[in-house]
This record gives sequence, C-alpha cells and structure tokens, in this order.
Amino acid sequence: MIRAAVIPSPNSPVEVRSFSRPQLEDGAALLRVMYSEVCGTDLHLQQGLLAETPYPLIPGHATVGVIEEVRGRVVDVNGRTFRGGEMVTFLDVHGTCGACWFCLVAKATTRCPHRKVYGITYGADDGLLGGWSEYVYLKPGVRIVRIPESLSPEAVIGGGCGLPTAFHAVERSDIRLADTVLVQGTGPVGLSAIALARLRGAYRVIAIGGPEVRLEAARRMGADVVLDVERTTASDRRAAVMEATDGRGADVAIEASGNPAAISEGLDLVRDNGVYAVVGQYTDHGPVEINPHLQINKKHLDIKGVWGIDYSHLHRSIQILERYNDQFRWESLITHKFDLDHANEALETVRAGMAIKPVICPHLPTAAETSTAGSPG
Ligand SMILES: [Zn+2]
Ligand SMILES: [Zn+2]
Repeated sequence: MIRAAVIPSPNSPVEVRSFSRPQLEDGAALLRVMYSEVCGTDLHLQQGLLAETPYPLIPGHATVGVIEEVRGRVVDVNGRTFRGGEMVTFLDVHGTCGACWFCLVAKATTRCPHRKVYGITYGADDGLLGGWSEYVYLKPGVRIVRIPESLSPEAVIGGGCGLPTAFHAVERSDIRLADTVLVQGTGPVGLSAIALARLRGAYRVIAIGGPEVRLEAARRMGADVVLDVERTTASDRRAAVMEATDGRGADVAIEASGNPAAISEGLDLVRDNGVYAVVGQYTDHGPVEINPHLQINKKHLDIKGVWGIDYSHLHRSIQILERYNDQFRWESLITHKFDLDHANEALETVRAGMAIKPVICPHLPTAAETSTAGSPG
C-alpha cells in the first residue's frame, strides 16, 4: 500500500490514508517522492478558500523524486526517453488541450479551461495525483523534466512552485537593464522574483515584506532595500521608494504578497508609465478600493495579471537553478521538513507566517529509524 496525506474536506485536518499501488497505463510513470512543497495555496485548500476543489484531495503541486517505474515510452521535450532511477520533477499542470480558443487563438494556455493541476484540481478520487504521497502517478502527457546531476533535490524543491511563478511574473513585467524593481511580498514567489530581477540586470531591487527570517532571505537573494511591512507605515514605505527613485517610483513593481491591500499601495509606488505585475492574488480575498483616474489612467500604467505557469517556465527555471544556484542557494529557503504524519504541523508553520518554505518528505525515516539509518539529509 502507498501512504498519502489527504485533506478530506474543507477545514478538516489532514489525515494519512492508504492507497493501492496503481497499474500504469501506457505512457505513464510512477514517481517515488523525495520532497513535495507546502505553500500558501495548500493552506488555502485546507481552509476551503479555492472554488471547486475536488475533496478529498492529496495536496502537493511542486514535487521532486526518482522515477520508480515507466510503462511504454515516456520522453522529454528533446525526445530523450525516461528510465527508472532518474531524478526528475514535473509540471503540475496537465491536460492543457492545445485545441481551445485560449490555447490556439489567444495563445494564453494558462487560461485553457481543460487544464488540471496536480495537488489542486485533481482530487484523491482521480488517483495519486498530489505530491504529499509516497508515490505520485504521472499520467500520460505529464511534462517531466530531468534534474541535472549538478543540482540537488533540495535546490529544486527550494525553488519549488515559487521560482517558475516568479519567472512568469518577471517575463510578463519585462524588467529592463537598470530598472528599479519593487517586489511586494517576501514569500517564495517574492524571493525568487528578487533573484530573477537581479539576473535581468536591475539597477536596484526594493523588497517589502516580513517577518525578519524572510527579510534576511530577501537580502541574500539580492534586495538592496528591505522594508519590514510590520514596522513601517505606508507613508514610510512611499518615502523610501521615492527616495530611491528620484521621486518617480519604481519602473516595475511585482506584487507577490497575497494581500489585496498591497494592490492600491503598489499602484502608488510604481512610476508613471511603469509596469505593475500582479502574481500574489491566487486566492480570492475580496475587493479593495482604488482610484482608477489617479492610480491607473492618469499614470498611463501597464498592469499585468499573471495566472499559473506553462511548461516553459518550469523548464527554464531548472536551467536557472543549474546555472545560478551557486549564487542564490534556493535550498536555503527550506526552513522545515515534515513527514506525512506531520502535514498539519507543516500547514501550521505556513499559517503562522514564520516559515519561508516547509517541505514534506514522505520517506523521512521516523525517529526510531533515524537512529539506525542516519540522517535523511
Ligand atoms: Zn504553490
Ligand atoms: Zn485549451
């Protein structure tokens, strides 16, 4: 039997359930999970805040592991065949149709109505389709990426879902050489956005966030100015951003806070004719008041919503990790490791806001095993 952590219904604690080992269909693979991420989305799933979630649900949408078994031919984008024993990650999005209006005409595949997401919109009744499990079933058509030998699984899960999401936001914001970039929010998406802004050649990166453990990480990832959202007022933050930009505001602002109130502030902190990319509002936390004349129209602003990721963002994020992880150390964002039996504690660290990134290790030895088998590393 295979053990997996399950959210049975909204607002109920996670419980561990047993599932039978799946029979692989042609073109499918079975992944032995090393790490799966715990992020704000998982907390919102447990709290019932995402519409149309198929409970019971095995969470976990960013996962790294080793291929246990392959049935038939499974290939990567270069046509190379996957074999058992290879360390891989995979795109959580599956089933983007390539045939609908959004896929073909708008070329906005993250708005394809047929796309499903492992650990979010596939439920436990659909199979082992979430990462908080000893094994994940990789359906035919799942986009799998081989992890280069120089990369550790910790670096890959340290990037997790935040790195490709930030990649998409930075791509949409089109940061230019010597731009001053404001990043609102210092969770995993904001921290990766800071690093990617640096790689895009930002002149200065300003971060707003907290608590201190995340602000320290923001400095490590390359923020020049770090403002603690709890210890500053909106007018303090405005003064700091204006001082850093000759009174104009940031060229580009990326919202990765998850707080609707950040939107009005962000609109004020980006310069006239600047770009504002909103990537933190994955859950509906309600409306906010803005002044469309002063904050959008008169400012001649470009506002970009950023929904989800496509395969390119994951593929290139792995390349960024391979090339630049020595500089940014994404594994340093991992603050907690939990086994399946402690998934509720993992969610609690996210809720309390003290973690940067907890991860689930389904094969983490128990305390008794640890004493004989050594550290899980
Ligand atoms: Zn996530
Ligand atoms: Zn489609």
